[in-house]
Amino acid sequence: MTNVIAIGNLKGGVAKTTTCLSMGARLAEMGKIVLLIDLDPQASLTLGVGLKPDELRHTVDEALLGNASLVSVSRECAVFGLDIVPANQALVIIDKILYGRKGYAFYLKNGIQAMGTSMYDFILIDCPPSAGTLTLNALTAADMLIVPVQCEYFAAQAFRQVIELIKRVREKSNPHLTYRALVTLYDRRNKINQIIYAQMQRGLNGVLFKTMIEVDTKLKESPVFGQPVTLYAPNTRGAAQYRALAQELIEHG
Ligand code: ADP
Ligand code: MG
Repeated sequence: MTNVIAIGNLKGGVAKTTTCLSMGARLAEMGKIVLLIDLDPQASLTLGVGLKPDELRHTVDEALLGNASLVSVSRECAVFGLDIVPANQALVIIDKILYGRKGYAFYLKNGIQAMGTSMYDFILIDCPPSAGTLTLNALTAADMLIVPVQCEYFAAQAFRQVIELIKRVREKSNPHLTYRALVTLYDRRNKINQIIYAQMQRGLNGVLFKTMIEVDTKLKESPVFGQPVTLYAPNTRGAAQYRALAQELIEHG
């Protein structure tokens, strides 16, 4: 069976892409076969595995429109067992094209189902920071949404909006969607971070991953070198925390 996980939040800059890449790479290192799908027109995930978005002829938009299979537009990454369906600017107009089409929320799910369930153990979908057609495709195709959140004052409001979105998706296109929250970019010396983390532990009991991801400059550097942190700097705290996250995901779902 393939476990399909979307990584999304309506906020940008919360480490969605970093989590998708780092966790995906770790799952592959653990022997899982993993497909990353870049659904963000900014194509940070595509850049993060060392591809140049503007030089790619085959990208995720073709698969979304049903003009190609996901497999035909996928490529292998530097980590064994890790593949990616890349994105580029072409995805900007897909958002608009899809909106006019009937049942548009199911396009990615259909593409994933067409691959069968034996090709990949995990499919990780990197969402854009919006509630548009692309995110709806990701949430309709996913078994679970992982919501990276920073322990900051405005995070709670953004999180409530994500919960509203999950409710709408459950009603309309994916009744089985579950979600987990992941604390990212945590600074243990920051008082606000400490206070809000304590609130989240109380308020999100059972939903919050026990593993948290702290601020680590190696996580900022690794995409510049087109590598996941577990490969670029395996002995750093960031790599260790993403290893722990992958382990927690496998053990507890
Ligand atoms: P999103 O996809 O949610 O917009 P990114 O994954 O692109 O967020 O992360 C936003 C920025 O923060 C990027 O520059 C990224 O390299 C950096 N970043 C992400 N996680 C960490 C971390 N734990 N420590 C330091 N920098 C991080
Ligand atoms: Mg991103």
